[in-house]
Amino acid sequence: MKITGIRAYQVDLPLHDGSYKWSGGNSVSVFDSTVVAVETDEGVTGWGEVCPLGPAYLPAYARGARAGIAELAPQLLGADPLALGELNELMDRAMRGHPYVKSAIDMACWDLLGKASGLPVATLMGGHVGADFALYRAISQESPAQMAKKIGQYRKEGYHKFQLKVGGDPDTDIDRIKAAAAVLSRGDVLIADANTGWTQHAAMRVADAVRDVDVYIEQPCMTYEQCLAVRRHTNRPFVLDEVVDGIDMVVRGVADQAMDVINLKISKVGGLTKARQIRDLCVSLGIAMTIEDTWGGDIITAAISHLAHSTPERLLFSATDFNSYVTVAFAAGAPQRKKGRLAASMEPGLGVRPIMKVLGKPVIDIQLKAKRK
Ligand code: MG
Repeated sequence: MKITGIRAYQVDLPLHDGSYKWSGGNSVSVFDSTVVAVETDEGVTGWGEVCPLGPAYLPAYARGARAGIAELAPQLLGADPLALGELNELMDRAMRGHPYVKSAIDMACWDLLGKASGLPVATLMGGHVGADFALYRAISQESPAQMAKKIGQYRKEGYHKFQLKVGGDPDTDIDRIKAAAAVLSRGDVLIADANTGWTQHAAMRVADAVRDVDVYIEQPCMTYEQCLAVRRHTNRPFVLDEVVDGIDMVVRGVADQAMDVINLKISKVGGLTKARQIRDLCVSLGIAMTIEDTWGGDIITAAISHLAHSTPERLLFSATDFNSYVTVAFAAGAPQRKKGRLAASMEPGLGVRPIMKVLGKPVIDIQLKAKRK
């Protein structure tokens, strides 16, 4: 099989809740997502998606994803999309860094691999574990009372894991954590995710104030070293997210005992191929994972579902169903949350069928024929 064309589509994804707010006063109300189609000489098309959490979250932004795809795509024409190891080598040689640019292309090639073999991506990644898996709900940064109230609302939708967006004023954050913990039911799990927003001394104060609260602390500070200092100070279970941007950081974190859980985002590490390498390493080392992405719609939710559903249950801390956060559906067959849980499709590939009237005209269209002119 050969890649004969790469197209990209731009999709706006507004939120049911109006906006999503996290540390540093950051917020997004409409997500800018990019859907990628990898076309082949056998007439089969693979689909991928990339959706940065705005430009201020990671070194990634939506127009950068599209500029990067337009830059990279001509160099991938003629390559075998099923040789995923070689394809990733080719992408890494052609463009240094920019993992999020490569993510949707790699994801689309996994979709092709599944379609070519007649197997769901989850089967190719180790097989569906059980019938489904549990999701967490992110709780946008609001007042302590409003965030506690949201826990009750989301529990009614079936969620039992709640990730509070903190990383603001430390006194208010302590109130947020305590207010949320006060409304938990037995079996609920609470995570306080600062998204790099605390200074080290503020993080130390919050960590001390919640020593007796049943809460996980996620990515308190900007750097790995600052997070490690907080980790060594706190008695709470600890999650690293933003600084874990590749397999080398997982190895380093394990050597330092810097975390109990990592947050594995597909586009942060460069696609499903690299996310699966990290997933398998974490399984071998006993590190639990939240498996998700920076944001997205139906295709990213499908990709998350295949990686998460093929992960041993004891090490799958949680996962996310972004397509239930946004108001626009653009692919049939995408997994839909039921009682706070999600299941990967049993159809070949990612199991999604894009709705072309929603996607509209491609904003990037690079074809092998055009290249030969
Ligand atoms: Mg996080």
